[in-house]
Amino acid sequence: MIPMIDLKKEFSDIRDDVLAVVSEILESSQYILGKKVSELETEIASYHGVSNAVGVASGTDALHLALASLGIGDGDEVITTPFTFFATVEAIVYRGARPVFVDIEHDTMNMDPGKIEARITKKTKAILPVHLFGLPADMTRIMTIAKEHNLRVIEDCAQAFGAALNGEKVGSFGDAGCFSFYPSKNLGAYGDGGMITVHARSIADIVKKLRNHGSAGAYKHEKIGFNSRLDELQAGILLIKLKRIDENNGKRRLKASLYRKLLSGDIITPVEKPGMDCVYHQFTIRSGKRDRIRGRLKDRDISSVIYYPIPLHMQEAVEFLGYQGGDFPVAEEAAEQVLSLPIYPDLEEAAIENIADIINNV
Ligand SMILES: *Cc1c(COP(=O)(O)O)cnc(C)c1O
Repeated sequence: MIPMIDLKKEFSDIRDDVLAVVSEILESSQYILGKKVSELETEIASYHGVSNAVGVASGTDALHLALASLGIGDGDEVITTPFTFFATVEAIVYRGARPVFVDIEHDTMNMDPGKIEARITKKTKAILPVHLFGLPADMTRIMTIAKEHNLRVIEDCAQAFGAALNGEKVGSFGDAGCFSFYPSKNLGAYGDGGMITVHARSIADIVKKLRNHGSAGAYKHEKIGFNSRLDELQAGILLIKLKRIDENNGKRRLKASLYRKLLSGDIITPVEKPGMDCVYHQFTIRSGKRDRIRGRLKDRDISSVIYYPIPLHMQEAVEFLGYQGGDFPVAEEAAEQVLSLPIYPDLEEAAIENIADIINNV
Protein backbone atom coordinates (compact mmCIF):
# COMPACT_ATOMS: atom_id res chain seq x y z
CA MET A 1 0.00 0.00 0.00
CA ILE A 2 1.39 3.41 -1.00
CA PRO A 3 -0.52 6.41 0.46
CA MET A 4 -0.58 9.96 -0.97
CA ILE A 5 1.25 11.20 2.12
CA ASP A 6 2.70 9.59 5.26
CA LEU A 7 2.11 11.84 8.25
CA LYS A 8 2.76 9.07 10.76
CA LYS A 9 6.37 8.67 9.66
CA GLU A 10 6.86 12.43 9.84
CA PHE A 11 5.49 12.50 13.38
CA SER A 12 7.72 9.65 14.49
CA ASP A 13 10.78 11.72 13.41
CA ILE A 14 9.80 14.71 15.55
CA ARG A 15 7.85 12.94 18.29
CA ASP A 16 10.00 13.97 21.27
CA ASP A 17 10.17 17.63 20.28
CA VAL A 18 6.43 17.78 19.62
CA LEU A 19 5.45 16.13 22.91
CA ALA A 20 7.84 18.43 24.78
CA VAL A 21 6.35 21.59 23.28
CA VAL A 22 2.79 20.37 23.77
CA SER A 23 3.55 19.71 27.41
CA GLU A 24 5.24 23.10 27.80
CA ILE A 25 2.20 24.88 26.35
CA LEU A 26 -0.31 22.90 28.40
CA GLU A 27 1.66 23.73 31.57
CA SER A 28 1.82 27.42 30.62
CA SER A 29 -2.01 27.60 30.46
CA GLN A 30 -1.73 30.20 27.69
CA TYR A 31 -3.58 28.55 24.82
CA ILE A 32 -4.70 31.38 22.53
CA LEU A 33 -2.59 34.25 21.11
CA GLY A 34 0.45 33.76 23.30
CA LYS A 35 4.22 33.59 22.84
CA LYS A 36 4.30 30.71 20.35
CA VAL A 37 1.96 32.45 17.92
CA SER A 38 4.04 35.66 18.07
CA GLU A 39 7.25 33.72 17.63
CA LEU A 40 5.86 31.83 14.63
CA GLU A 41 4.60 35.09 13.09
CA THR A 42 8.06 36.63 13.44
CA GLU A 43 9.81 33.61 11.95
CA ILE A 44 7.41 33.25 9.04
CA ALA A 45 7.60 36.96 8.22
CA SER A 46 11.39 36.82 8.15
CA TYR A 47 11.41 33.56 6.15
CA HIS A 48 9.39 35.38 3.48
CA GLY A 49 11.25 38.65 3.64
CA VAL A 50 8.14 40.61 4.64
CA SER A 51 7.67 42.77 7.72
CA ASN A 52 4.48 41.19 9.06
CA ALA A 53 2.73 37.87 9.40
CA VAL A 54 -0.51 37.20 11.23
CA GLY A 55 -1.70 33.77 12.36
CA VAL A 56 -5.35 32.88 11.75
CA ALA A 57 -7.56 29.80 12.11
CA SER A 58 -7.21 28.35 8.58
CA GLY A 59 -6.08 28.99 5.03
CA THR A 60 -9.65 29.83 4.09
CA ASP A 61 -9.75 32.46 6.84
CA ALA A 62 -6.38 33.79 5.69
CA LEU A 63 -7.94 34.51 2.29
CA HIS A 64 -11.15 35.86 3.79
CA LEU A 65 -9.42 38.20 6.27
CA ALA A 66 -6.82 39.30 3.71
CA LEU A 67 -9.61 40.35 1.33
CA ALA A 68 -11.46 42.08 4.18
CA SER A 69 -8.36 43.93 5.44
CA LEU A 70 -7.76 45.27 1.92
CA GLY A 71 -11.28 46.66 1.83
CA ILE A 72 -12.70 44.21 -0.71
CA GLY A 73 -16.43 43.77 -0.25
CA ASP A 74 -19.92 44.12 -1.69
CA GLY A 75 -20.06 44.40 -5.47
CA ASP A 76 -16.30 44.30 -6.01
CA GLU A 77 -14.81 41.93 -8.55
CA VAL A 78 -11.82 39.70 -7.87
CA ILE A 79 -10.06 37.99 -10.77
CA THR A 80 -8.97 34.43 -10.04
CA THR A 81 -8.45 30.96 -11.50
CA PRO A 82 -11.16 28.33 -12.01
CA PHE A 83 -8.62 25.54 -11.40
CA THR A 84 -7.97 25.49 -7.66
CA PHE A 85 -9.41 24.25 -4.39
CA PHE A 86 -12.91 25.62 -3.74
CA ALA A 87 -11.86 27.73 -0.72
CA THR A 88 -10.20 30.29 -3.01
CA VAL A 89 -13.61 31.22 -4.39
CA GLU A 90 -15.54 30.79 -1.15
CA ALA A 91 -13.42 33.50 0.47
CA ILE A 92 -14.30 35.96 -2.30
CA VAL A 93 -18.00 35.14 -1.99
CA TYR A 94 -17.86 35.54 1.83
CA ARG A 95 -16.96 39.17 1.18
CA GLY A 96 -19.98 39.74 -1.04
CA ALA A 97 -17.54 40.19 -3.91
CA ARG A 98 -17.76 38.44 -7.27
CA PRO A 99 -15.18 35.91 -8.45
CA VAL A 100 -14.27 36.58 -12.08
CA PHE A 101 -12.44 33.67 -13.66
CA VAL A 102 -9.70 33.70 -16.26
CA ASP A 103 -8.50 30.49 -17.88
CA ILE A 104 -5.23 28.80 -16.95
CA GLU A 105 -1.98 28.25 -18.84
CA HIS A 106 -1.76 24.79 -20.37
CA ASP A 107 1.72 24.05 -19.06
CA THR A 108 1.72 25.47 -15.51
CA MET A 109 -2.04 25.08 -14.90
CA ASN A 110 -1.88 28.44 -13.10
CA MET A 111 -3.82 31.60 -13.98
CA ASP A 112 -2.91 32.84 -17.48
CA PRO A 113 -1.73 36.46 -17.09
CA GLY A 114 -2.38 37.07 -20.79
CA LYS A 115 -6.10 36.68 -20.13
CA ILE A 116 -6.41 39.02 -17.15
CA GLU A 117 -6.66 42.43 -18.79
CA ALA A 118 -9.70 41.52 -20.90
CA ARG A 119 -11.60 40.83 -17.66
CA ILE A 120 -10.80 44.06 -15.84
CA THR A 121 -13.82 46.32 -15.33
CA LYS A 122 -14.54 49.39 -13.22
CA LYS A 123 -15.53 47.04 -10.40
CA THR A 124 -12.31 45.01 -10.38
CA LYS A 125 -10.46 45.49 -7.11
CA ALA A 126 -8.00 42.62 -6.92
CA ILE A 127 -6.27 39.69 -8.58
CA LEU A 128 -6.07 36.45 -6.62
CA PRO A 129 -3.56 34.02 -8.17
CA VAL A 130 -3.02 30.54 -6.73
CA HIS A 131 0.38 28.82 -6.70
CA LEU A 132 -1.19 25.49 -7.53
CA PHE A 133 0.52 22.24 -6.52
CA GLY A 134 3.52 24.24 -5.22
CA LEU A 135 4.34 25.81 -8.59
CA PRO A 136 4.61 29.62 -8.53
CA ALA A 137 2.16 31.59 -10.66
CA ASP A 138 3.65 34.17 -13.04
CA MET A 139 3.91 36.93 -10.43
CA THR A 140 6.15 39.11 -12.58
CA ARG A 141 3.41 39.64 -15.15
CA ILE A 142 0.57 39.63 -12.63
CA MET A 143 2.23 42.38 -10.55
CA THR A 144 2.85 44.48 -13.65
CA ILE A 145 -0.82 44.27 -14.64
CA ALA A 146 -1.92 45.01 -11.07
CA LYS A 147 0.28 48.13 -10.86
CA GLU A 148 -0.92 49.40 -14.19
CA HIS A 149 -4.59 49.06 -13.19
CA ASN A 150 -4.14 49.91 -9.51
CA LEU A 151 -5.38 46.52 -8.29
CA ARG A 152 -4.61 44.69 -5.09
CA VAL A 153 -2.96 41.27 -5.27
CA ILE A 154 -3.71 38.48 -2.81
CA GLU A 155 -1.64 35.31 -3.31
CA ASP A 156 -3.14 31.95 -2.40
CA CYS A 157 0.00 30.17 -1.16
CA ALA A 158 -1.84 27.33 0.60
CA GLN A 159 -0.03 24.73 -1.52
CA ALA A 160 3.26 26.53 -1.87
CA PHE A 161 5.01 27.21 1.44
CA GLY A 162 8.68 27.76 0.54
CA ALA A 163 8.19 28.05 -3.23
CA ALA A 164 10.00 30.93 -4.89
CA LEU A 165 10.24 32.82 -8.15
CA ASN A 166 13.57 34.41 -9.11
CA GLY A 167 14.74 33.93 -5.53
CA GLU A 168 11.72 35.61 -3.93
CA LYS A 169 9.33 33.55 -1.88
CA VAL A 170 5.70 33.33 -2.94
CA GLY A 171 3.58 35.32 -0.52
CA SER A 172 5.99 38.27 -0.74
CA PHE A 173 4.94 39.63 -4.15
CA GLY A 174 1.42 40.88 -3.58
CA ASP A 175 -0.34 42.89 -0.87
CA ALA A 176 -0.97 39.69 1.09
CA GLY A 177 0.12 36.05 0.99
CA CYS A 178 -2.29 33.46 2.39
CA PHE A 179 -1.06 30.17 3.82
CA SER A 180 -2.80 27.06 5.14
CA PHE A 181 -1.42 24.73 7.79
CA TYR A 182 -3.98 22.02 7.09
CA PRO A 183 -2.19 18.78 8.08
CA SER A 184 -1.48 17.58 4.54
CA LYS A 185 0.05 20.87 3.34
CA ASN A 186 3.86 21.09 3.02
CA LEU A 187 3.99 22.89 6.36
CA GLY A 188 1.12 21.18 8.16
CA ALA A 189 -0.13 21.50 11.74
CA TYR A 190 -1.95 18.84 13.74
CA GLY A 191 -5.23 20.61 13.23
CA ASP A 192 -6.35 23.69 11.32
CA GLY A 193 -4.33 26.87 11.02
CA GLY A 194 -3.35 29.62 8.61
CA MET A 195 -1.16 32.69 8.21
CA ILE A 196 -1.20 35.95 6.26
CA THR A 197 2.08 37.53 5.21
CA VAL A 198 1.88 41.27 4.51
CA HIS A 199 4.23 44.14 3.79
CA ALA A 200 2.08 46.94 5.18
CA ARG A 201 1.96 47.23 8.95
CA SER A 202 -1.39 49.01 8.68
CA ILE A 203 -2.94 45.99 6.94
CA ALA A 204 -1.41 43.55 9.44
CA ASP A 205 -2.95 45.61 12.25
CA ILE A 206 -6.37 45.37 10.62
CA VAL A 207 -6.02 41.57 10.26
CA LYS A 208 -5.01 41.32 13.92
CA LYS A 209 -8.22 43.06 14.90
CA LEU A 210 -10.40 41.13 12.47
CA ARG A 211 -9.18 37.76 13.77
CA ASN A 212 -10.10 38.75 17.32
CA HIS A 213 -13.65 40.18 17.24
CA GLY A 214 -12.55 43.51 15.83
CA SER A 215 -10.57 44.31 18.92
CA ALA A 216 -6.94 45.15 19.61
CA GLY A 217 -7.62 44.32 23.25
CA ALA A 218 -9.21 45.60 26.45
CA TYR A 219 -12.77 44.92 25.18
CA LYS A 220 -12.64 47.89 22.86
CA HIS A 221 -14.22 46.81 19.54
CA GLU A 222 -13.51 48.98 16.51
CA LYS A 223 -14.99 46.67 13.89
CA ILE A 224 -17.25 43.68 13.57
CA GLY A 225 -14.62 40.98 13.37
CA PHE A 226 -14.38 37.22 13.58
CA ASN A 227 -13.11 34.50 15.86
CA SER A 228 -10.18 33.33 13.74
CA ARG A 229 -7.11 32.75 15.84
CA LEU A 230 -4.22 30.36 15.44
CA ASP A 231 -3.82 28.48 18.71
CA GLU A 232 -0.63 28.08 20.75
CA LEU A 233 -0.45 24.30 20.37
CA GLN A 234 -0.49 24.50 16.58
CA ALA A 235 2.00 27.38 16.60
CA GLY A 236 4.36 25.47 18.89
CA ILE A 237 4.22 22.41 16.64
CA LEU A 238 4.65 24.53 13.51
CA LEU A 239 7.78 26.15 14.97
CA ILE A 240 9.32 22.66 15.14
CA LYS A 241 8.21 21.77 11.63
CA LEU A 242 9.34 25.11 10.19
CA LYS A 243 12.96 24.19 11.00
CA ARG A 244 12.67 21.26 8.61
CA ILE A 245 10.59 22.75 5.82
CA ASP A 246 13.46 23.54 3.44
CA GLU A 247 14.98 20.09 3.90
CA ASN A 248 11.59 18.47 3.34
CA ASN A 249 10.81 20.58 0.28
CA GLY A 250 14.25 19.60 -1.06
CA LYS A 251 13.36 15.94 -0.60
CA ARG A 252 10.08 16.48 -2.46
CA ARG A 253 12.07 18.02 -5.33
CA LEU A 254 14.28 14.92 -5.48
CA LYS A 255 11.23 12.65 -5.65
CA ALA A 256 9.80 14.83 -8.42
CA SER A 257 12.98 14.58 -10.48
CA LEU A 258 13.03 10.82 -10.08
CA TYR A 259 9.42 10.59 -11.29
CA ARG A 260 10.33 12.81 -14.21
CA LYS A 261 13.32 10.67 -15.13
CA LEU A 262 11.39 7.40 -14.93
CA LEU A 263 8.05 8.30 -16.51
CA SER A 264 7.81 7.73 -20.25
CA GLY A 265 7.63 10.60 -22.71
CA ASP A 266 3.88 10.16 -23.28
CA ILE A 267 3.15 11.32 -19.78
CA ILE A 268 3.11 15.09 -19.22
CA THR A 269 4.98 15.87 -16.00
CA PRO A 270 4.92 19.23 -14.14
CA VAL A 271 6.92 22.02 -15.81
CA GLU A 272 9.63 23.96 -14.05
CA LYS A 273 10.45 27.14 -15.86
CA PRO A 274 13.69 29.12 -15.33
CA GLY A 275 13.62 31.02 -12.03
CA MET A 276 10.96 28.75 -10.51
CA ASP A 277 11.57 26.99 -7.24
CA CYS A 278 8.70 24.50 -6.97
CA VAL A 279 7.83 22.68 -3.75
CA TYR A 280 5.72 19.83 -5.15
CA HIS A 281 2.79 19.90 -2.80
CA GLN A 282 1.47 17.57 -5.47
CA PHE A 283 3.18 15.79 -8.33
CA THR A 284 0.45 16.07 -10.93
CA ILE A 285 0.82 14.33 -14.26
CA ARG A 286 -1.44 14.61 -17.31
CA SER A 287 -2.53 11.89 -19.67
CA GLY A 288 -5.43 11.12 -21.99
CA LYS A 289 -5.39 7.67 -20.34
CA ARG A 290 -5.77 9.12 -16.87
CA ASP A 291 -8.65 6.91 -15.76
CA ARG A 292 -6.93 3.71 -16.90
CA ILE A 293 -3.75 4.71 -15.11
CA ARG A 294 -5.71 5.43 -11.98
CA GLY A 295 -7.42 2.04 -12.16
CA ARG A 296 -4.13 0.15 -12.53
CA LEU A 297 -2.62 2.00 -9.59
CA LYS A 298 -5.68 1.23 -7.49
CA ASP A 299 -5.42 -2.49 -8.38
CA ARG A 300 -1.93 -2.44 -6.85
CA ASP A 301 -3.10 -0.56 -3.77
CA ILE A 302 -1.38 2.67 -4.80
CA SER A 303 -3.21 5.91 -4.04
CA SER A 304 -3.73 8.69 -6.55
CA VAL A 305 -6.14 11.62 -6.52
CA ILE A 306 -7.75 13.83 -9.14
CA TYR A 307 -7.05 17.41 -8.12
CA TYR A 308 -9.47 18.74 -9.39
CA PRO A 309 -12.20 16.88 -11.26
CA ILE A 310 -14.59 19.84 -11.68
CA PRO A 311 -13.32 23.35 -12.47
CA LEU A 312 -14.85 25.91 -10.14
CA HIS A 313 -16.93 27.73 -12.78
CA MET A 314 -18.84 24.43 -13.20
CA GLN A 315 -19.53 23.86 -9.51
CA GLU A 316 -23.16 23.81 -8.45
CA ALA A 317 -22.51 26.14 -5.50
CA VAL A 318 -21.52 29.00 -7.80
CA GLU A 319 -24.16 28.52 -10.48
CA PHE A 320 -25.36 32.01 -9.59
CA LEU A 321 -22.22 33.43 -11.23
CA GLY A 322 -23.68 32.39 -14.58
CA TYR A 323 -20.72 30.54 -16.06
CA GLN A 324 -21.09 27.35 -18.08
CA GLY A 325 -19.12 24.43 -19.49
CA GLY A 326 -16.94 25.58 -22.39
CA ASP A 327 -16.14 28.97 -20.82
CA PHE A 328 -12.61 27.94 -19.76
CA PRO A 329 -11.51 25.15 -22.07
CA VAL A 330 -7.93 24.88 -20.81
CA ALA A 331 -9.08 24.33 -17.23
CA GLU A 332 -11.78 21.92 -18.39
CA GLU A 333 -9.25 19.85 -20.34
CA ALA A 334 -6.91 19.80 -17.35
CA ALA A 335 -9.72 18.49 -15.14
CA GLU A 336 -10.11 15.55 -17.53
CA GLN A 337 -6.41 14.68 -17.66
CA VAL A 338 -4.76 15.40 -14.32
CA LEU A 339 -3.72 12.80 -11.78
CA SER A 340 -1.75 13.54 -8.62
CA LEU A 341 0.64 10.79 -7.55
CA PRO A 342 1.97 10.03 -4.06
CA ILE A 343 4.69 12.48 -3.03
CA TYR A 344 6.12 13.23 0.39
CA PRO A 345 9.60 13.76 1.80
CA ASP A 346 10.19 10.15 2.83
CA LEU A 347 8.53 8.42 -0.12
CA GLU A 348 10.87 5.57 -1.06
CA GLU A 349 12.63 5.46 -4.40
CA ALA A 350 11.47 1.87 -4.91
CA ALA A 351 7.87 3.08 -4.62
CA ILE A 352 8.44 5.70 -7.31
CA GLU A 353 10.06 3.08 -9.57
CA ASN A 354 7.08 0.82 -9.02
CA ILE A 355 4.54 3.58 -9.75
CA ALA A 356 6.41 4.72 -12.87
CA ASP A 357 6.53 1.12 -14.18
CA ILE A 358 2.79 0.67 -13.78
CA ILE A 359 2.07 3.98 -15.50
CA ASN A 360 4.52 3.35 -18.35
CA ASN A 361 2.88 -0.02 -18.99
CA VAL A 362 -0.50 1.65 -19.51
C1 LIG B 1 -5.96 24.03 1.39
C2 LIG B 1 -6.28 25.17 0.52
C3 LIG B 1 -7.00 26.28 0.98
C4 LIG B 1 -7.72 26.30 2.30
O1 LIG B 1 -6.96 26.05 3.39
P1 LIG B 1 -7.68 25.52 4.76
O2 LIG B 1 -6.57 25.66 5.76
O3 LIG B 1 -8.04 24.10 4.52
O4 LIG B 1 -8.81 26.39 5.03
C5 LIG B 1 -7.16 27.37 0.14
N1 LIG B 1 -6.65 27.37 -1.10
C6 LIG B 1 -5.97 26.31 -1.59
C7 LIG B 1 -5.41 26.39 -2.99
C8 LIG B 1 -5.77 25.17 -0.81
O5 LIG B 1 -5.10 24.13 -1.32
